[in-house]
Amino acid sequence: QLMISSGLTSVDDYLFALKKNIKDSEELFQRGDPSVWQKDYVAIEIDVSSGQWILALAPKDNGWAKRDNIYWIIIIAGWTLSFLMIAFMYNLVATQSRLRTALTTIDRQANFDSITDLPNRRAFVDYLNQLTQSGNDQHFAILFIDLDHFKEVNDSLGHDAGDELLVSVAERLRSQLRGSDFIARIGGDEFVVVINRFKSHEVINDLATQINRHLSEPFTLRQNQIQTTCSIGIALYPDDGMKAAELLKNADLAMYAAKTAGRRTHYFFNDELRAQTERQNTIHNRMRDGLKRHEFSLVYQPIVDFSSGKVTKCEALLRWKDEDGNVISPAEFIPVAERTGLIHELGQFVLEQACIDWVTVHKSGYPIEVSINRSERELNDMEVAKQWLSCIKQHGIPTESITFEITESLLMSNKQRQLQILHYLRSQGVQLAIDDFGTGYSSINYLQRYPVDYIKIDRSFLNQAPDDRVQVALLDALLRVARALDIDVIAEGVETKRQWELLQQQQCDFAQGYFISEPLTLDKLLDFLRKWQF
Ligand code: C2E
Ligand code: CA
Ligand code: CA
Repeated sequence: QLMISSGLTSVDDYLFALKKNIKDSEELFQRGDPSVWQKDYVAIEIDVSSGQWILALAPKDNGWAKRDNIYWIIIIAGWTLSFLMIAFMYNLVATQSRLRTALTTIDRQANFDSITDLPNRRAFVDYLNQLTQSGNDQHFAILFIDLDHFKEVNDSLGHDAGDELLVSVAERLRSQLRGSDFIARIGGDEFVVVINRFKSHEVINDLATQINRHLSEPFTLRQNQIQTTCSIGIALYPDDGMKAAELLKNADLAMYAAKTAGRRTHYFFNDELRAQTERQNTIHNRMRDGLKRHEFSLVYQPIVDFSSGKVTKCEALLRWKDEDGNVISPAEFIPVAERTGLIHELGQFVLEQACIDWVTVHKSGYPIEVSINRSERELNDMEVAKQWLSCIKQHGIPTESITFEITESLLMSNKQRQLQILHYLRSQGVQLAIDDFGTGYSSINYLQRYPVDYIKIDRSFLNQAPDDRVQVALLDALLRVARALDIDVIAEGVETKRQWELLQQQQCDFAQGYFISEPLTLDKLLDFLRKWQF
């Protein structure tokens, strides 16, 4: 220790002395070189049981030059160490705060929407849960806001413009509300607003009107003036539901009602909607049981090829005769099945049964093709599409004999996954038809972009023909375009001889409708074919 504190480099450079620390008897108990005591020595005291000893050391040449060096080295080392410690501590604090920032960012990303900076669905659900679970009897309202035709903006001006529109909508919403109201973006073009402590139903009614008016003022996006409106569904706590999920569902239902009522309006959840939901739930349960009890069956409507006058196809249509013998229209139960998801089981049944029946028809000597309706929701899963193909093949049916009918809204919505599945099905030989053409925003554009073999023009397209000159002209135009694009046209809902003759004269490709035959059970279809296909 002494050597270290003196900066010793070699033992030979120093003198040592050791003495017992007793006054006046130094001579007696001394070891080493006593001249050390006359020099500028360093010493330490050593306590042992017999007393205290002093060990001293001094440089032979009497210079502590090295000691000064060492002194500074120690000082500098000390400072450096202190500095390093401070740097280390600083770094630790900085890292911690970076960590905290990162955690905050993660938290933001989990709870906030990056485009509008509003709370997202998750944050909204958390907030709603807090409100409903806090056990207070505070009334509040949920406004479910959905932009009308947002997809059109996205499609025509691009996603960046779409994002800008969302940001502007968020700003306008903020400007309309108080600090105590909660706004979130919970989906593509869906916003929700929670209005706390409102005075009356009328206040909410006025607010919804005001929001809609404010949002329908034009937006300027990249030099384009965009006008958008919205549909708002409103649910009130606690009247329209005690739980977060129920409130949100009811506000959503009310929003749908607003859309159905022609958009640009708002709707309060009401008893009628509640009854409708209950009816749908009942229908869902009855359908599920009905499937097990074989209450569903298929009928087939013949489709005639104008060029040969023969029935070359038929469309499979689902029928449901429930326990009590009531026949329920697919127009009523298919939309419910689509909403509840039961459409997958129903669709599976339809395909399976159609395949079985196709084999029967072929064995009877009629080589006709069959068209099967597919809902948009059924086209979500590539694996399911593959199962359809293997089902078709298992029955020994060439895929070319099957046509899937889909509605044009599917092509319009530009849903990539579904389109991919359609492309795949077609690449495997399945034919595709656009159903109900002319009922939505029919666009010839979609026809050239997407893989279709047929368009089926809706009966509303020619219900007034041939008397209505506009309908006749539209039909003519459509047939020309289809011919140019190499797509065949099937006219649906042909009910009269005059319609039939008009279509024939306009060189339409196929016809289907009561004028030829109503949808028939398999047995009756075989009878019909026997008479028709001479
Ligand atoms: P859709 O695909 O447009 O089917 C044609 C509908 O028009 C059928 O009604 C058919 O009976 C009816 N129809 C046929 N000819 C005439 C006519 O000359 N005049 C009139 N006024 N109507 C005619 P249906 O069978 O009640 O089916 C209604 C809708 O239900 C279908 O419309 C289709 O969208 C859906 N649907 C039926 N079966 C299925 C199915 O298996 N799966 C799916 N996803 N949807 C189905
Ligand atoms: Ca159809
Ligand atoms: Ca149709």
